[in-house]
Amino acid sequence: MSEVEVVRSYVRGRWHVSESGYRPLVNPANEEVLANVSSDGIDFASAVKFARDRGRSGLQQMSFAQRAGLVKQMSTILREHRAELLELSRLNNGTTRGDGAFDVDGASGTLAYYAAIGKKLGDTEFLCEGEPIQLSREGGFVGRHILVPRPGVAVHINAFNFPAWGFAEKAACALLAGMPVITKPASATSLVAARCVELIIEAEFLPEGALQMICGSVGDLLDGLGPQDVVAFTGSAETAAAVRSVLAGRGTLTRLNVEADSLNAAILAPDVATESRTMDLFVRDVVREMTQKAGQKCTAVRRILVPETMADAVTDQLCSRLETFVVGDPADENVTMGPLATQGQLQAAEEGVAALTASADLVLGTAKRIDGRGAPEGKGYFFGPTLLRQRESAEAGAVHRREVFAPVAALIAYDGSVEGAAGLNALGGGTLVTSVYTDDLSWLQTFAAAGAASTGRLYVGSEGAADEAPGSGVALPQSLHGGPGRAGGGEELGGLIGVGLYLQRLAVQGSPTAIAGFDPTA
Ligand code: NAP
Repeated sequence: MSEVEVVRSYVRGRWHVSESGYRPLVNPANEEVLANVSSDGIDFASAVKFARDRGRSGLQQMSFAQRAGLVKQMSTILREHRAELLELSRLNNGTTRGDGAFDVDGASGTLAYYAAIGKKLGDTEFLCEGEPIQLSREGGFVGRHILVPRPGVAVHINAFNFPAWGFAEKAACALLAGMPVITKPASATSLVAARCVELIIEAEFLPEGALQMICGSVGDLLDGLGPQDVVAFTGSAETAAAVRSVLAGRGTLTRLNVEADSLNAAILAPDVATESRTMDLFVRDVVREMTQKAGQKCTAVRRILVPETMADAVTDQLCSRLETFVVGDPADENVTMGPLATQGQLQAAEEGVAALTASADLVLGTAKRIDGRGAPEGKGYFFGPTLLRQRESAEAGAVHRREVFAPVAALIAYDGSVEGAAGLNALGGGTLVTSVYTDDLSWLQTFAAAGAASTGRLYVGSEGAADEAPGSGVALPQSLHGGPGRAGGGEELGGLIGVGLYLQRLAVQGSPTAIAGFDPTA
């Protein structure tokens, strides 16, 4: 046994501590080992069976409103332990207080939102969609679409960058729908998610088997899944492809939702004046979306599209703001941007920027690890804000293909036309969010018609929104999160859209009296 703490998994109603196969979890600001993680020794098939047998029956005996009560309690617990979770986030994710809060408050806020909409669904066991539909000439035979919980287990595989929110946003939807959850945080940053689950389990309000957690590798968890189960995966496009291939190879048609990576674009339209509120909003948003969580957000801006005539002025404005960031150990209160989360992320950032420089000039940044304020010399995975500028044709280069998961973005000058902007946006192969900054409604609408199908969310920055727009990187639970193509093709959040992943839609047909019985409001 290691002397360092081992992150526990929670399987079949018991805590599991692996005794081999450890991977170390480190503080990315000083590389000190915080804990070990491993899933060795877990019987994954029995975890799946336990969820299906115990968890499902407990949850599906409850109404939507009752399950919303569970989700509410989860939110309350995370809020009550906010300070502790923020500290763990600093230690294991290297987050500043603000960046940690983005994850931890995002988790409790999303749970609270789903608790509220679940409560409104009421004491019903299924949901109706739309109105009854007349199916016969005289109206004696009608139909209605209803949604019922799927009798399986929801397996949630999460990325390293949002350990709390990733766990919570998926669990909220699945538990509200009545599906038991097996959650698997990314190994490298599993301390925050593990503590969230620990706090919830120890409060003893969830039905047995409703929530299990695997810390460490996924093992053969996916092998035991069947057609009524759901896998919700968040991570890189590469791992998503591996998950798709495992499930397809088994031929069991398990439902899969993928939230993958994305080359999000921020587009400045030609109507925006250099001295204007919309320009200020654009610069503020781009800087925030490049640097928040050290650029380790799936919704971060990676491509900055600016009309040729404005490219120099925008480059100067971005640089002067990015240069003010103090990179270092977030334990130092003067630090405004923390390190990357792992040695692997640092290496990928260095390699990624090198690849981008094949067709872009480095305008700001060193393209290499730097020392961080308050951190031991030579230690910590620090990477400064990095701006590149596309050198060759706007269409060419790795900037449209390679996600550098770090505070890195490239400015691309375009001809200012709607077609030019839409075409470049589409080269990213599908984004989670594309932000357009304009006060010209006609430009916006033409862009939406030409280019909206390449994104999951169109965020419009304008003078009218300048005071309240939260930034393009915020995945609000009310709005859809997910994007086409490279972004994974998934659909999460968006109110009941996200819950729908865990429900089976069916058409019920019969007499008006029989169908009226399905209406919870009747
Ligand atoms: P990753 O390396 O793809 O890992 C994601 C998750 O998959 C981790 O829990 C990982 O577990 C697990 N995993 C690894 N190999 C697996 C396999 N063969 N089968 C099943 N699961 C496997 O991604 P990451 O580095 O954690 O996260 C960064 C990426 O996620 C970025 O590309 C980012 O854009 C994307 N992301 C997308 C969203 C979104 O909502 N669209 C949100 C956040 C992040 P281990 O950690 O144990 O290896």
